[in-house]
Amino acid sequence: MRRIYEDAAYHTPASCWWRETAPPTDHPQLLGDHRTDVAIIGGGFTGLNAALALAQSDVAVTVMDTEQPGWGASGRNGGFCCLGGSKLGSATMGKRFGDSERAAWHAAERAAVDHVAAVLADHGIDADRHSDGETLLAHTPRAMDDLRNSVTETRATYGVTPQIIAPEALRQHGMAGAFHGGMTIPIGFALNPGKYHAGLAAAVTKSGAQIFGQSPATAIAPSGGAWRVTTPKGTITADKVILATNGYSSEDLPDWLRARYLPVHSSIIVTRPITPVEQAQQGWTSLQMCYDTRFLLHYFRLMPDGRFLFGMRGGLRATPKAEAALSRTIRANFHRLFPEWRNVEITHEWSGLVCLMRSLTPFAGAVPDQPGLYAAMGYHGNGVAMGSYLGARIADSVLRRAATGPMPAFLSHPPKRFPLGPYRRALLAPAYAAAAFLDR
Ligand SMILES: Cc1cc2nc3c(=O)[nH]c(=O)nc-3n(C[C@H](O)[C@H](O)[C@H](O)COP(=O)(O)OP(=O)(O)OC[C@H]3O[C@@H](n4cnc5c(N)ncnc54)[C@H](O)[C@@H]3O)c2cc1C
Repeated sequence: MRRIYEDAAYHTPASCWWRETAPPTDHPQLLGDHRTDVAIIGGGFTGLNAALALAQSDVAVTVMDTEQPGWGASGRNGGFCCLGGSKLGSATMGKRFGDSERAAWHAAERAAVDHVAAVLADHGIDADRHSDGETLLAHTPRAMDDLRNSVTETRATYGVTPQIIAPEALRQHGMAGAFHGGMTIPIGFALNPGKYHAGLAAAVTKSGAQIFGQSPATAIAPSGGAWRVTTPKGTITADKVILATNGYSSEDLPDWLRARYLPVHSSIIVTRPITPVEQAQQGWTSLQMCYDTRFLLHYFRLMPDGRFLFGMRGGLRATPKAEAALSRTIRANFHRLFPEWRNVEITHEWSGLVCLMRSLTPFAGAVPDQPGLYAAMGYHGNGVAMGSYLGARIADSVLRRAATGPMPAFLSHPPKRFPLGPYRRALLAPAYAAAAFLDR
């Protein structure tokens, strides 16, 4: 496996809150030679949603993960089940792909949230849901003007009426902090990603699919009209293979993937439960999931048990020095936005890799010239809903049936390579610097 960050980026996080609330299930290692209809590489939300849809259609499915499924971003995220997944502006999307494709994308965003809600309901998964939609908080007065001006477009795009929160009404909404007003879009909810993943894995197993942990795919090769996936202690021969490795992908699994994805760190801190008195001191009592209007945005939410989760982009490197610098920055930003909680203990801190694509849109489709090979990836840090949804949609492609939900055609355009090959993360430093300048 050839991956583009330092080894530390691929270590298990020492202190991730979700692991304490929903310890990962121990799935056996793949031993010996097996045959299956569809092999899925990667056991996060994408891989498991693909597995569930396939197994429910009576297809023999085998999922394998390098570590235990849920070890990647799916077990480390902020739990915002929300709109998003692309970084391409809506207007540009319309110009590039046409209005109906743009509309299909926005319909897919909504369908993705509904898809996760349905998975939770259908399989009786209690994932500590809270928040009525998501709230965007303005970091400057000008950003607040932009939010006000975006109401008509948001209504036209998603068919819902966003609620504007004037600056002076923030405290009344239990959202007092260093913000200049906000806007709530009534789509989406927050969840505990560990519990969602654990429930999903149980549903996949119950539906008849097999899941293996500690089983990294080390080679994928055509073999007599099928595909052979090699792991350290076993092989799987499958008619079809789905790559669901997202930010943890390797340059050589398969070679086609080289430089077509760009992993990027995102980081989170979680506090001890904040008492009602401390919440009142800050003026933050809302369980709404929120993010701010910066390009380099912060995302945060008070959880039902009183703990506060605060996240932002992570470091450019996975060295002890870079991690220490990021740890200082995330704490400083948290304290700047929530000054009354300066002395509240931070009990958990971790990071993980999300995945960007050169097109700024996800990919979910067939790998060109490699019959039977499929991939779904690149949700630009918003894959709780979209990764789950495109996992299910890639199952439609594998089954050669029409998409059973909105699915813009451009998502299946093969991704282009980034410049700079294995050094492509050097592109991030100037991009972050420009974003930080614009955020001032
Ligand atoms: C800190 C952080 C916060 C985030 N917050 C949010 C949020 O609030 N809302 C949101 O929508 N999104 C969020 N995201 C993004 C979201 O978590 C991801 O988009 C989503 O989980 C991607 O799911 P996935 O299944 O495609 O990939 P992953 O969950 O990353 O799974 C990929 C899996 O592939 C496995 N793998 C890799 N290579 C191999 C191999 N060769 N053989 C076998 N297995 C392999 C890995 O071990 C891994 O388990 C966040 C991400 C991070 C890191």
